[in-house]
Order: sequence, then C-alpha cells, then structure tokens
Amino acid sequence: MKKWVYLFEEVAKAEKYAGSWEGVRNLLGGKGAGLFDMTRAGVPVPPGFTVTTEACNEFRKTRKFPAGQWDQQLTALKAVEKQTGKKFGDPKNPLLVSCRSGAKFSMPGMMNTILNIGLNDKVVEGMIKLTNNPRFVWDLYRRLIEMFGTTVFNLDDEVFEHPMAEYKEQKGYKLDTEMTAEDWQSLVSTFKGVFKKHVGFDFPQDVYKQLELATKAVFESWNGKRAIAYRNKEGISHDLGTAVNIVTMVFGNMGNDSGTGVAFTRNPSTGDKTMMGDYLLNAQGEDVVAGIRNADPIEHLQSQMPKVYKQFMGITARLEKHYRDMQDVEFTIERGKLWMLQTRNGKRTAKSAVKIAVDMANEGLITKEQAILRVTPENVDSLLHPQFDDEAMSNAEKNGTFFAKGVNASPGAAVGQAYFDADTAERMAKEEKQNVIMVRPFTKPDDVHGMIASQGVLTSEGGATSHAAVVARQFGIPCVVGASAIKINLGERAMTVGATIVKEGEWISVDGTTGRVFVGKMPTISPSLEQQTELLTLLKWADDICARKDIREAPAKGYPVRGLQVWANADYPKDARRARSYGAVGIGLCRTEHMFFEPERLPIVQDMILSETSEGRTEALNKLLPYQRKDFDGLFEAMDGYPVIIRLIDPPLHEFMPDEEKLLEEVITMRVKNESNGLKEKQELLTAIKGMHESNPMMGMRGVRLSIYMPEIVEMQVRAIFEAAADCTLRGIVVKPEVMIPLTGTVKELEWIQPRLERIAAAVMDEKKVKFEYKFGTMIEIPRAAVTAGEVAERAQFFSFGTNDLTQMTYGYSRDDAERNFLITYQEQGILEKNPFQTLDRGGVGKLMEWAIAEGRKTRPNLEVGICGEHGGDPSSIEWCHLIGNNYVSCSPFRVPIARLAAAHSALKHRPQKKAVTAKKKVTAKPKTSKTKSKVTKK
Ligand code: PEP
Ligand code: MG
Repeated sequence: MKKWVYLFEEVAKAEKYAGSWEGVRNLLGGKGAGLFDMTRAGVPVPPGFTVTTEACNEFRKTRKFPAGQWDQQLTALKAVEKQTGKKFGDPKNPLLVSCRSGAKFSMPGMMNTILNIGLNDKVVEGMIKLTNNPRFVWDLYRRLIEMFGTTVFNLDDEVFEHPMAEYKEQKGYKLDTEMTAEDWQSLVSTFKGVFKKHVGFDFPQDVYKQLELATKAVFESWNGKRAIAYRNKEGISHDLGTAVNIVTMVFGNMGNDSGTGVAFTRNPSTGDKTMMGDYLLNAQGEDVVAGIRNADPIEHLQSQMPKVYKQFMGITARLEKHYRDMQDVEFTIERGKLWMLQTRNGKRTAKSAVKIAVDMANEGLITKEQAILRVTPENVDSLLHPQFDDEAMSNAEKNGTFFAKGVNASPGAAVGQAYFDADTAERMAKEEKQNVIMVRPFTKPDDVHGMIASQGVLTSEGGATSHAAVVARQFGIPCVVGASAIKINLGERAMTVGATIVKEGEWISVDGTTGRVFVGKMPTISPSLEQQTELLTLLKWADDICARKDIREAPAKGYPVRGLQVWANADYPKDARRARSYGAVGIGLCRTEHMFFEPERLPIVQDMILSETSEGRTEALNKLLPYQRKDFDGLFEAMDGYPVIIRLIDPPLHEFMPDEEKLLEEVITMRVKNESNGLKEKQELLTAIKGMHESNPMMGMRGVRLSIYMPEIVEMQVRAIFEAAADCTLRGIVVKPEVMIPLTGTVKELEWIQPRLERIAAAVMDEKKVKFEYKFGTMIEIPRAAVTAGEVAERAQFFSFGTNDLTQMTYGYSRDDAERNFLITYQEQGILEKNPFQTLDRGGVGKLMEWAIAEGRKTRPNLEVGICGEHGGDPSSIEWCHLIGNNYVSCSPFRVPIARLAAAHSALKHRPQKKAVTAKKKVTAKPKTSKTKSKVTKK
C-alpha cells in the first residue's frame, strides 16, 4: 500500500522515498518539510503529520481520497494522541488540531487553513472544566464554526460577520476584547443557526467528520481562484498539488505560565548578532502581531521564565546553525512548555543582509561565496544612495503628497526647491545656497551646469538613456525622467498634475530609486561607502572571485578565463578618483565633448565650428589643446597604473551652438526694435546654424563621420591625450591610454582615420622621448560594425559596446523619444518584457554582441572587449557580458560597487562544471573530431 501520510518524525522514510531534500519538499510541501526538519533536529514542534502532495493530486482526479489515505490519517492521529497524551474528541482531555495547506513553494494566504478542529458541544464543556477559562473556549468554538462555514463550505464571510456586528452593536461594544464568555457562547448558537441555514445541515459534531472535511477543503483549495491566479503570476506549476499538515494545537492564552511570541535570531534591520523579538504572556499569536497589547522584549522572558528562555535561546541558536541563516521564528509557551511553530529565513534590510552575510562567513557558518550570493546588487544600490524614509513614502499617497511617477533613471533621494532652467538652478544653488531640483521637459548638453548644481533632476520627457538620465547617473544625481503626467509651463514657471500645482521655488522630493515624485520635503537617510566596512569586505571578496583564473570557461582562443573587471565611465579627474575609491580598475569611457561645454571653452569651440578654413579651425583648436591636455593629465594621474579609454568627439556639432529657435527670436526682436548693434553677427550665426541643421542628427554628421569630415578636432584631441600621457610618464605615473573612435560602421572609416591619429601618437612620443603602452580601438554601436566585427578588428585593438546606440539602432527606437511615446505601453502590453534601454535585450542586441566578440577574436584573439552603454551597470546585462566573454563592464562610478557584486554573482552562477574523470571515460577517451564550438549557456 502506498504511503500517503508521514508523521513528523518519519523524515528518513520521506527522504528515502523522495530521493533528495528537494524531493521531500515536493512531497511534503515547504512548510511540512520545515516541520519535519525541525523535528529531526530535536526542536519541540507540536506533534503532527503530513498528507502528501501525491494524495492531493490523486484526490484532484477523482474527488475521493486515494485508497488507504484515510486509514493512514487515523493511524497517524493515534500516534499523535500517544505523543501528546490527549485524545481527539475526548471531552476529558481533548486533542485539537489545525489543518494547514502547504505547497512546495510558499503561496501566502492563497489556500485554506482550519484551526481548532476537534471541538464540539461536549468537548467544549470538557475544555472549560480543564482550563477554567470559558471565554477562551467559547471563542475557539465560534472561530471553528465560522472557519468551517467560510473555508470548507465557501460561505461568504458576511453571513457570520453581519450577526456578530449586530450583536456587538446591541451590546455597545467596539472591540472583540470586550466580549465576555456569555457573549461568545451566545454567538456560538447564532453561528450554528447561520451554518445550518446556509449549509443545509448542522455543524458536524463528529470530530472525525470535521477532520475529513477539512482535509478535503485544503486539497480543493489548490484549485481555488486565488491560488490559480497566484501560480500563474509567479510561474508555479499547476501540477504540484498541496500537502496538508495536521498539527496539534497549542495555546499561549492558558494563563500566566503561557505565552506567545515572534523573534529574529539577529537584528533584521542592523544585522547585529543579537536576538530581537517580542512576546506576550497569556496571549494568542494574533495579539502580538496586531499590537493590541504592548509586547515585551524577548530579554524579559529571561526573568519571567528562565528555563524556557534558556531553552528558547538554545533552540534558536541551533536553528540558525542548521539553516545557516538568520531565522524568523514563531513560538508558543503552553503551561510552561515551549513549542516552536515555525522557522524560516528572516526578511531583512539591505544593511542587515550585508552584515549578516559577512559575519556568518567570518563565523564559518557559510562560505565567502555563499555570503556574496546572499546579497543582491539591489541591496548594494540602496546602501549607496540617500533613501527616503520608507514609512514617509508609504504615507505619501494617503496624505496627498504624491505628485507623479516617471522612469527611475538614477537612484537616490533628492529634496530641493524646483527651478525650471539650468541657469536659475545653478544661481539658486551657488548664490542662494539653496538645495535645488532642476525640472525640465528634457535636458541638453548646455543644461549640464544646472544639473551638476542640483540635488536632483526631474524631466517630463525622455527615457532611461536620455541625456538627463545618462548625465545624472554619471554624476550620481538622483533623477526621474519621463514623468509624463507633469505639465511644465516654462512661461509661468510652474508645473501641474491635475489640480496640484508646484511653482518655482517650492519644495519637491524626487526618488530616483522608484521613479516617484512628491510635493514638499520628504525625510531622507544617507549612507556612505567608506563607513560601511562589511560592504567593503564583501566587495573585496567579490573581486577575489572574479580574479580567479578558473572561474570562466573560454569557448575559443583569447576569451577571458577570469571574471569580469569593473571599469567606470568618468569624464573628470574627480569622477575618476571616486570611481577608483569605489573599486573601478579602469576608465571605460571618457566622453570628451562634455569638456567642451565649460564656459571658457565654449566660445573657442564655436569659433572653431564657424571657421570656414582648415587653418581657422586649427587656430581655434590650438587654443583648446592646453585645456584638453590638462583634462587628460588629471585623468591619467587619478588612474595611475590603470587603463583610461578616451573617446574622441561624438555628438553633432550643432549641439555646441546656441539654440536655433532662441537665436531666431533674438534676431526678429532686434529687427523689430531696429537694433543694429550685433545684428549682422547674429544673422550670420543663424545662417551657419541653419546650415548645420539635420533631420536625424543622431544618425547624421557625428562620431567618426565628423572626424573624417573635419579631422582637425580629433587630431588635436589625440595630440592632447599623448602629450598628457607623456608628461605623466615623465612624472613617474603609469599611463595606459586607449583612444576610442565612436560610431564606426565600416572598417574603411578606421582605415581612413586611424593611421593619421597613430602617426600623431608616434610623433608625440618621439618629441617627448618617452614610450608607454597604448591602444586604438572603436565603439561597437552600429549593427553593421557588429556584423562585420571580424573586419573591424583588423584595425581596432579593442571593442567597447555602446549599447545605448546599439539598442537604438537595432530596434530602430529613438533613445530620446521611445519611452515617452510607446515603450511604456509596449511593456504594459507584454510586447517588451523589460525596457531595452535599461536591461540588455539578449535575443537581439545581445546576439549581435556575442557574434561581434566571436568574429573579432577570430581576427584578433587578444581583442579587449568592454561595454560602456548604460547597461554596463545593470546586473542582468552584466551577467550577459560575462557569458559572452567581455573582459570588463564600465558604468557610472556610483554603480561600480553594484557591478562588482553582479560580476561575482555571474561568475559564481556560471562557473565551469568540474569534469568528472570516470573510469569509462578514461578508456573511451579519444581526440575530439567534432568541430562544434562550446556554446554559451543562456537564460
Ligand atoms: C552608447 O551609445 O552606448 C554610448 C556609450 O555612447 P553615448 O551614450 O555617448 O552615445
Ligand atoms: Mg553612443
């Protein structure tokens, strides 16, 4: 006869049958497995047994218990009676049980549970005598009748709640606690009447019938509407079925030698190694949770019940050791006897997650690798940015301070006064020393000074890779973009959402972590990396994992066998210093054009653009050269010994010119007012800007195209890079410059430009009489470059995936407009699972990358490969880069710690399987003839 029922102590039998602990969890459900495991560990768990998921699945086919199940339940019940010394249905010493659902995966509140089974009119009388507590017993009985009606017979809660509310109203009671024993007794009769009226027969007095019906009800609840919907959402198989746990009821409200409580084995908010918990004497579990009475801290139990306290501390220490994690336990003390009702891994804050993981590794409870895997990149993220107070955030909707929601572009919390243009924002920050939030429909390069001066940035348009988002992340400024509900009225210096209006200078709070915006000042909490010693330790361990030379399998020649390195995108020495202090080991992208916007340089840049001759351009560029040399000098110094990738100018030139519409307005105004002073120059400027106009500037005269059209700019940049590198070398600094050519589409472009630049590099080294390592390479951000990567690698010594543009061009979605227009709808409709500008699209963009690496390394096995698009700081995209063979990822300095952890996670999750050398293999081993290349595994 098949075994359908297992007593809690029959864990060995269950394991033998199921073959593994995973199998036990399948058979007995998660809760059941936990109870069995605790019983085995000698923890006092109320005796009980579990009816298997296999029985449930049989029942679901026939709506009948499978042959033998009920008899086995009765036998198990006898064993429980023996263990407890109580008898099911015996008024003199009754055993009450609960009947709890429990599937393999936790489905909280989705299935049925019935408590206090075993009570009937006679048992109630007996229990009253035993406990001397009629109020308690009548309350249990009315709960049982109610639960039976609603869960076993699917009656509406209302059929019981209505008469109860009426009763309380008649008596003038507000709370259940005001109900007396007589009140509950009277309600039991009412409930029995209700039960009969709706179910058609009396509430079953036969306790075995109760148990049978309750077991069936739990089985049935597997296919309840709620449960099916939950499984669909969570992707849990509908075939698993639920187990039924039948557990002896224990009561903490049997007098002052009884009690109940909840506790965490370590502090769930700080991670400190001290027990944290609450308990109440003479109370039920719900009383602690509901906070009806002020609970006592767990330490007080030491004086109130020293023996129980000692036992409790011993058990919880053992449980923590057994599960090798912080435990969240529920317990009840019934007449001086301690019972453990549940133990599970406790939920915790990010801070506590890091501290517990590091402490446990240091205590030898877990390995360093396990510690790394216990902390999520999101945990690290939240530890590095100021955060809004959780409670204040959750109250915002209620108290009307919630304003709008947009894309969470750059994490962290910012509180400041709203200003609607960059100049005002900067002035208010610098001169008035205000905390400022810059609010714009979108931002452009000439808004950067306002952004830098701001605590946070908010835009109503744009997406995750819009200018505002990229720049904000780079500088670690909290930023929400594309909050399209907000109407910004630049003329009136105000913004509105419905009837709520925020005028210039009023306070707002921007949460870049969740994308939410609030009116007024929201309280924040702010951390710093240097002070977080456990986090520093964990990140060091993460780096050690990635540095291991056996952590990645190389599918072909030249592929890295160590994990990913983490580099940073940084334009200025102070960003580079921060990047290093956050653990970056290289600069993966320095966007040189940002330097052109500095106030003393912009006029020179504009002169250069407006020059009609090469000589005129060279003259202006000669003035820019010392500035650029100084910029690069600072970067090399900050990154002493590490590679620094400097990207040559990328954006279209019109971005450096005054705004065409604004200039036109000025010209018209001057003409209307008949002002001639300066009019001619402005008109000429306007004509020049109009001449530069392009319908699709992102696909126009930019990147390498601009360099071929106007090589003087990049020639000056390369000279500045190499002069700075030479000067630094002479000062004893180790430089590793890497010059990056953007937006390459064909190797012919590199063939045209690269030799000219290399000649300058060689010339500078000759002039300065120094030698140092350097590379010339390209960004891969145009699909054609990826497809023809084998050719491109003939020239390029390194690739860096510019996945912002590569995503834009692969999907054909404008990175500046897609979020505002259709991307959110696409996600809502399930057309896109994730925003491809935030999380790399593995199936399309990712495939191009994988191909480009393979083809590139066929040409040049030691090809260095990185990524510098926004995806370089996103954990899922980092995992992809690990899988396809990147050498490094590069992201904003503030995301470096997150990327370090994500890189280690990728390495640990995909470490090469050790090949077992079996005897058979030894005999049959032959040289491989198949040409199949080992393929990267994909999620
Ligand atoms: C990219 O396209 O991914 C990139 C890094 O370049 P930018 O964002 O400056 O276009
Ligand atoms: Mg780009």
